[in-house]
Amino acid sequence: MTYLCYVDESGTPELPGTSSHFVLAGLAIPIERWSQADGEVTEILKRYELDQEELHTAWLLRSYSEQSKISGFERMDWAARRSAVQRYRAGEILRLRKAKNPKPHNQAKKNYAKTSGYTHLTIDDRRKLISEIADKVSKWDFAVLFFEAIDKLHFDENRTGRTVGDQAFEQVVSRFEQFLTRQGDPKIHGLLVHDNNETVAKKHTALMRRFHEEGTIWAKIHHINETPLFVDSKLTRMVQIADLCSYAIRRFVENSENTLLESILTRADTVDRVAVGARHYTSLNCTCLICNAHTPWGKKKNIRKAL
Ligand SMILES: [Zn+2]
Repeated sequence: MTYLCYVDESGTPELPGTSSHFVLAGLAIPIERWSQADGEVTEILKRYELDQEELHTAWLLRSYSEQSKISGFERMDWAARRSAVQRYRAGEILRLRKAKNPKPHNQAKKNYAKTSGYTHLTIDDRRKLISEIADKVSKWDFAVLFFEAIDKLHFDENRTGRTVGDQAFEQVVSRFEQFLTRQGDPKIHGLLVHDNNETVAKKHTALMRRFHEEGTIWAKIHHINETPLFVDSKLTRMVQIADLCSYAIRRFVENSENTLLESILTRADTVDRVAVGARHYTSLNCTCLICNAHTPWGKKKNIRKAL
């Protein structure tokens, strides 16, 4: 059996960077269930006329300012909404092009390009879409989630001897390897599939080579093959699902939004009801949903919700 582990990140690994947390998540699925998983996501996307679009959770869940400015937007059908937004945005681009400051023009062009496929859906439609997909993922009893969510305020590179990005990758690789080892099947294999980003690609390839030679601090690598395969997340649906997971985790640790997290946390690698695959690296006193799920039962400080 072979597991493909789709990996994506959310937030910036730099200190301090633009986010308080950095999240790296890997969603592993057995290769023979890929077709089912891909098909089920496509079926949902089709109902929203998005099956030809990239599923980019952060851009889908933004509010698009023009939707409140176009009168009767919510009552329009999808074709009418698309044309109304197109007309509105063309007008805005013309207006901003004339301004002295080029920044708003460039920003608008970027926002419009990132969201052009989603303009027929209201924010409520788009929230419903993402929660339908998260709900679907929560039912994939064949899928296994591994993640490391690092609170950068509690991270000391001098103490850990590694950067935020390196620690997150090492943890996800170790947890995936430990999961594969636990299956007790000498013929089991794992492959990492990543979004292609030149800097990360070089770094993770070098780290993975080192792990193959020396192991991580937690595990010798016997089941994960090769260095990570890098793909274009615009084209690879399952990397987009890993993106949804890392987004949900970061929104939870930074903004306490728990709806999406509760769905996907059900897929965290779990041993004896302890979510060993999911970790929030932060103050020892944290009693959040992830920290509680990761703590063995006898040691829980304040059980808010059991998995
Ligand atoms: Zn926590």
